[in-house]
Amino acid sequence: MRWSERQQAMLRQMGLRVWPAALPGAAVAPERTAARAPRPQAGVSANPAPATGTPRAVPPAGMPRLAPTAGTVGTVGTAGEVPTPGARADLAGLDWDALRQAVANCRACGLCASRTQTVFGAGHPQARWMVVGEAPGEAEDRQGEPFVGPAGQLLDRMLAALALTRSSDGAAAPAQRVYIANTLKCRPPRNRNPSAEEMALCEPFLVRQIELLQPRLILAMGRFAVQALLRSDEPVGRLRGRVHRYQGVPLVVTYHPAYLLRNPADKARAWDDLCLAAQVAEDAAVASGPA
Ligand code: SF4
Repeated sequence: MRWSERQQAMLRQMGLRVWPAALPGAAVAPERTAARAPRPQAGVSANPAPATGTPRAVPPAGMPRLAPTAGTVGTVGTAGEVPTPGARADLAGLDWDALRQAVANCRACGLCASRTQTVFGAGHPQARWMVVGEAPGEAEDRQGEPFVGPAGQLLDRMLAALALTRSSDGAAAPAQRVYIANTLKCRPPRNRNPSAEEMALCEPFLVRQIELLQPRLILAMGRFAVQALLRSDEPVGRLRGRVHRYQGVPLVVTYHPAYLLRNPADKARAWDDLCLAAQVAEDAAVASGPA
């Protein structure tokens, strides 16, 4: 497969170089192919036809690459040690529409007073990937959709580089679909950090979203997503680069796009995280068989 000019441009924008020998029309040295083979795209065979034009995304010079593999899977505790997430009995039977309505009507915490509207989530309800962010910002509060504005545009470009999309129109193959949700459904005033109480009160909605979606892979973006899903106060930088579990679902930690906009040097690490997630998603697809 060849990456499009748009994908190559996106990688350059993220601060990543595309391996020159892999550009269309260039020969690929065999030893480079073996040593630097990229993570396959989700839903794409792990043994694609070799070749010419296979992309090579590598970090900038001097940037260490973790190169995690399926053999370096780590966990935060075992399945039995991970605390049971904060489910709410009255949400257990709700379908997507009813859950969305429950969120829209929620006044459980003080954030309801300052919100313009709730931000439920976006994407295909049968997506295999789930992206979990933090709390809505100003643009999300205004539009009612997670990850809009510059950070959302960066996320969309990152996903597009792996042929993934948040579109819910059904045109994308199941393996390419992404559902995006935030840990909190209402914007904290002036984008302050959410309190532990606010996160706890809002958590049941995210729990039910995960139950309904049954993703094959969760990508947790940012500190508060990690706190909600892994019950960990460890910094993102210490949790990324390996595979965790949320109620048995593989979970990969990475930086929030808003952070990446402020710290572009970490875009290479975020790209490695996405490649790890793509590998995990493909492994899960192989293990599960055709949908
Ligand atoms: S942040 Fe969550 S718990 Fe608080 S009012 Fe909004 S939907 Fe309800």
